Amino acid sequence: MTGITFEKTGQDGKARTGVIHTTRGDIRTPAFMPVGTAATVKAMMPDSVAATGADVLLGNTYHLMLRPTAERIDRLGGLHKFMNWDKPILTDSGGFQVMSLASLRKLTERGVTFKSHIDGSKHEITPERSMEIQRLLGSDIVMCFDECPALPADRKRIAESMELSMRWAARSKEAFGERPGHALFGIQQGGLEEDLRQQSAEALREIGFDGYAVGGLAVGEGQEAMFGCLDYAPDQLPEDKPRYLMGVGKPDDIVGAVARGIDMMDCVLPSRSGRTGQVFTRLGVLNIKNARHMDDPRPLDEHCGCPACRNYSRAYLHHVFRSQEIISSMLLTWHNLHYYQDIMAGMRDAITAGTFAAWQSEFHATRAQGDVDPV
Ligand SMILES: [Zn+2]
Repeated sequence: MTGITFEKTGQDGKARTGVIHTTRGDIRTPAFMPVGTAATVKAMMPDSVAATGADVLLGNTYHLMLRPTAERIDRLGGLHKFMNWDKPILTDSGGFQVMSLASLRKLTERGVTFKSHIDGSKHEITPERSMEIQRLLGSDIVMCFDECPALPADRKRIAESMELSMRWAARSKEAFGERPGHALFGIQQGGLEEDLRQQSAEALREIGFDGYAVGGLAVGEGQEAMFGCLDYAPDQLPEDKPRYLMGVGKPDDIVGAVARGIDMMDCVLPSRSGRTGQVFTRLGVLNIKNARHMDDPRPLDEHCGCPACRNYSRAYLHHVFRSQEIISSMLLTWHNLHYYQDIMAGMRDAITAGTFAAWQSEFHATRAQGDVDPV
């Protein structure tokens, strides 16, 4: 008994809708998780993140273990209290970010040693240490420690990496132990090789987890290859548990993943783009720094209910971006996160109503129109 359960409430084609019940509240699925890397979703107050419709946040083990350290967060009452977010938190295992950010990495059967990208200090993460860090943080949903090669990689490398990750998954489960109210998710690996994905799924089922992630995608393979893998990978995982696609993605990636049976996703894209002036709307992507917005009294998206669209013109958002005012990051991040949650809500409603195919056609047709003509 983990205290975290998944209730599937609807299905339309392969797309599913449901609820993950946790002791800190329900997570409606399909769910998009904003990323709160350093115990904050950058430029957003926690209440504002919740107001966009987010039920759950993602926290990064790698960043938090280095600064301010998991031990310090534990002494201060855990990550929820530390960052003033009382809804569920999922933490990654640190493995992916060690591979993408740290230097002087050394991978062995035991784990990974590396130097901090912040101050060069030396650290080690093993499956056992990853479980300890995520326990100290007080994460509701804990991810297994895994290893994944960047794609393209040769089959031998992908197979060896997957097999190591499955041994680490067993060690993660053992180290996690029995923790009522907390869930542990396994991570499927195997690159773009269907049989390796199948072997990985079987190894994970054998160990037994509260949820299952599709790992090792969105690492440079492109959307077509990713969707090709998602045509079979979610089906290999247990049907009665949440399926989480890690690190995805753009709005059309998210819709395509849900159509293939994914229940949860996370990505820095909407928040990071908010700080660089890239704006996602129903009509596609626009860049607020372009001069065409300078005299435009219209909102980013007249159908959006976020504070940036309700209260401000494109001209104002262009001005504060060009002036490097902090409110620019605040408003554009809010809009992007709001739009992502609008997509999720729209998909949940359409799956429930059995109209997901029509919803997808409308989504793609609207995006194909492109942004409104300049004034
Ligand atoms: Zn908006």
